[in-house]
Amino acid sequence: MAPAPFPVPRSVSDDPLSASGVPGRADLDPRTFRAAAHRVADLMADYLEGVEDYPVFPAIEPGSIRPLFPATAPEAPAAIAKILADYQALVVPNATHWQHPGFLAYFGTTASGPGILGEMLTATLGQNPMLWRTSPIGTELEGVVVDWLRQGLGLPPTFDGLLTDTASTSTLIALAAAREAAGLDAAAEGLAGRPDLAAGVRVYASAEAHSSIEKACMTLGIGRASLRKIQVNERFELDPAALAAAIGEDRAAGRVPLAIVATIGTTSSTSVDPIAAIAAIAVAEGVWLHVDAAYAGPVALLPDRRASFQGWELADSIVVNPHKWLFTPLDASLLLTRRMELLQAAFSLQPEYLRTIDREAPVRDYSEYQPQLGRRFRALKLWILLRTFGLQGLRERIDHHLALAAEFADWIDADPDWERLAPVPFSTVCFRFRPAGAARHAADPAMDSRLDELNAGIMAAVNRSGEVFLSHTRLAGRFTIRLAVGNLRTEERHVARAWALLRREAGRLGAG
Ligand SMILES: *Cc1c(COP(=O)(O)O)cnc(C)c1O
Repeated sequence: MAPAPFPVPRSVSDDPLSASGVPGRADLDPRTFRAAAHRVADLMADYLEGVEDYPVFPAIEPGSIRPLFPATAPEAPAAIAKILADYQALVVPNATHWQHPGFLAYFGTTASGPGILGEMLTATLGQNPMLWRTSPIGTELEGVVVDWLRQGLGLPPTFDGLLTDTASTSTLIALAAAREAAGLDAAAEGLAGRPDLAAGVRVYASAEAHSSIEKACMTLGIGRASLRKIQVNERFELDPAALAAAIGEDRAAGRVPLAIVATIGTTSSTSVDPIAAIAAIAVAEGVWLHVDAAYAGPVALLPDRRASFQGWELADSIVVNPHKWLFTPLDASLLLTRRMELLQAAFSLQPEYLRTIDREAPVRDYSEYQPQLGRRFRALKLWILLRTFGLQGLRERIDHHLALAAEFADWIDADPDWERLAPVPFSTVCFRFRPAGAARHAADPAMDSRLDELNAGIMAAVNRSGEVFLSHTRLAGRFTIRLAVGNLRTEERHVARAWALLRREAGRLGAG
């Protein structure tokens, strides 16, 4: 039998990805699209498999990326192969690698495999579930996953809700609804020229609450001045007695309380406001209660970890971010509410061209409940993710992160040269280097400022390693290093490596 003929080298024109651009007036032809999608799938899998080889944060300076790109858009079409090569050369190395297991800064998140698959299919279907008829599946599947998550979190069926882009938008929507609940009719009348509101309106949140609450006040036209920040205790938890006193004082001065925002897992220290006590005040005062559980909310999937959440079922609205600790690619925020009709009162507007006129059954048009018209089909990735991992799988992963953080906190506590600066209710540890020689409790401002500088230096040196990435906050005036576990690839060895690097740099810098 004759040997198989030597394979003929494929000419460049055989490879659709090397063809220059897209001929004609149409989209990518199906053959090229298929080849490109396969190539992209390989890039994706290679990236996720090798992400640990990148420095978590690239060693670059601001302004170094833009000059790598042409100042004007290309006139001529380019080949996909060339574009993907540039993606590899110019885009990937200049990213902050949130997918890296050493990403322990801010709140670590993961765009999980199932979530990424969901994003690919979402983009392919090109749905816009602004109205039921513009995406029946986008609309009804959103109802399904919102209710799956609601049940998983242990909340009663009185809660309905929707998916938004971010917690910032969810909180904006909640506060707009709170304003309607207070009878201001701001949606129709606005707030300008309202002598009855001359003394001002008030939103209450702790001094540790997220900046998105302040931004929502700015956006809603009630201004930052309307946010009254309530003092916290030494554990950074809102003081309910101070809240009640503030409301009483404001009412006496003729101000109108609109909403209380309580946080389960503040961004700085992950402190937990006393929800049940705050809910009792909200009920007694008839004021809207919004619970911000953007980061920590997924912990409520674990029934034996629900103590921190006690009383949140009394809230009027709750925000939990699947794109934070539920392994969903940005963006996805879950806004749950017992008062969907007030969201609608805040945002409903139906021009004739958006009216559904050919259906008898009532339809849910989600754009009626949010400021934007167009919206993404976010339910698809959540449906795929919830089915791939199952609630059980999500619980195991979150439980693992809680255990890793607890272990790291134990290491800090056992070392006399380090101190923890806040309780660890979830997966984030706040700490600093404080050599055992330094007096622990003495109020010595000079010492504290030396420690601030030292800890900032330690963190910067650790981050320069590229192996792990940490961020900081300030607690009780002190520079505080934060280690937050939330990435699916993070294992004990990464947390241990962070600890080794911290001690190494502290030894080097602290000795001087
Ligand atoms: C991260 C965070 C937010 C803001 O989330 P976005 O989705 O980025 O708007 C709000 N509140 C808390 C407690 C957070 O941790």
